[in-house]
Amino acid sequence: MGSLAANDIDVFNGFYNTINGKSTTTEKTRHGTDPATEKQNPEVPIATKKDVDDAVVAAQEAFKTWSKTPWEERKRMVLAFADAFEKHAEDFSKLLTQEQGKPLQWAKTEVQAGLHWMRQITTLELKEEVLEEDASKQVVVRYTPLGVTLGIVPWNFPIHLACGKIAPSLLTGNPIIIKPSPFTPYCGLKLGELGQQIFPPGVFQVLSGDDNLGPWLTSHPGISKVSFTGSTFTGKKVMESASKTLKRVTLELGGKDPAVITKNVDIDATAQKIATLAFLNSGQICIAIKRIYVHEAIYEKFRDAMAKFTKTLTMSDGREDGVFMGPIQNSMQYERVKTFFSDIEKENWKVAVGGKNEERTGYFITPTIIDNPADDSRIVTEEPFGPIVPLLSWSDENEVISRANNTAMGLGASVWSNDLEEANRIARQLDAGSVWVNTHLELDPTAPFGGHKESGVGYEWGIGGLKSFCNVQTLFLKKTIS
Ligand code: NAD
Repeated sequence: MGSLAANDIDVFNGFYNTINGKSTTTEKTRHGTDPATEKQNPEVPIATKKDVDDAVVAAQEAFKTWSKTPWEERKRMVLAFADAFEKHAEDFSKLLTQEQGKPLQWAKTEVQAGLHWMRQITTLELKEEVLEEDASKQVVVRYTPLGVTLGIVPWNFPIHLACGKIAPSLLTGNPIIIKPSPFTPYCGLKLGELGQQIFPPGVFQVLSGDDNLGPWLTSHPGISKVSFTGSTFTGKKVMESASKTLKRVTLELGGKDPAVITKNVDIDATAQKIATLAFLNSGQICIAIKRIYVHEAIYEKFRDAMAKFTKTLTMSDGREDGVFMGPIQNSMQYERVKTFFSDIEKENWKVAVGGKNEERTGYFITPTIIDNPADDSRIVTEEPFGPIVPLLSWSDENEVISRANNTAMGLGASVWSNDLEEANRIARQLDAGSVWVNTHLELDPTAPFGGHKESGVGYEWGIGGLKSFCNVQTLFLKKTIS
């Protein structure tokens, strides 16, 4: 058992699970890897089945009072937590770069996004709705907390995505257990320790472990809802496991976002934006641009402009100044992304830029553009989740809409054109949860975010996101017995 002083968190030394208001360790431990140096990061706990049971019991106990704590008081505590987190923003950013690999400038952006999400979500209100009222009766729709919730977080945005689950769950009266990815447990665990300064025991807990932990939690009968962000493959397993006890699920899954570039664009400016939005976070973003459809009239010029700009993107250890791209987060993902590079020769793909990876320490992948591969090639149909994208030529509007929609995914999509009527017309026909015109990847904590088709079930954030942490109750109130 380890514990921390109540007024501080131990930023660099010691990582603990948070169970029932205490920082706890486990007999067996494991560690993540710094993806830029391949050096071991510090040891973290491997939660046991008993830890899971203890955390669920503590959360169930906490639910009794937290669910009845007034909304304003819960909101005050979530905001106090955001303030405490902000005081440690610098340390969290450095820790994020060390565990995730993203350059420090983007780590800082992620910390700010986490703060922004928590604060903005508290500006939302979930009021009772009076559907009908007359002298004899009232019909009211109420939103009541579900119980203990579970937030499962992937390794690409460990802080931002955790904050996007913590705030709505706690605000609506549901204690939450966060399970970070085993690849990036560090910042999540520190958030848990920090939370003990603010929240009553059992309200906000964090468990890190090995591959057993997720299934133990999703199958636990004491948990009422799973808010999952990760791959479509794992999302299906989570839904299957949750179905045994009919847990509520929100699934935020994979994407294969198309960007449709019409001929009515400024080629250089658009090419630079598209490359940035495809290679940011080394392509490891669910809503990164993953298929780029360029009108044939400008295809070659656009390809060359994008290739030229891509060559200027700096890639190195994220602790160095001004770096745009860091490494791939883990060796498993690195090996997977490299299989797309092996396909270049096998499948005879043309390369507009990149295509080869130099031997070096760290999981670095050179940003690469594949020049007009076949529509049924792997690079067009699968999500590499790394900095390699296909550029595809189109000529007819209906044809490009149908190609853009021809995927099992439906997370994001964008249209780029100076002709807003054209852009709007195309945008409204794209089958995705978020559709952008002349931008991509912009999100808002007060707007719903979710995927169509196999990109997800339900959605997070906004008022609807709050409702997804609630039961709905219709109260029929007859004013007299007659
Ligand atoms: P992943 O599915 O491998 O893991 C996600 C989380 O699920 C991790 O915490 C992992 O430990 C846990 N997990 C794994 N197996 C589990 C099981 N059987 N039961 C319960 N939990 C289990 O995903 P990843 O590789 O960490 O993340 C990359 C994927 O996530 C990409 O496909 C990306 O598009 C997607 N993603 C989606 C969104 C979104 O909001 N839609 C956001 C970020 C990432």
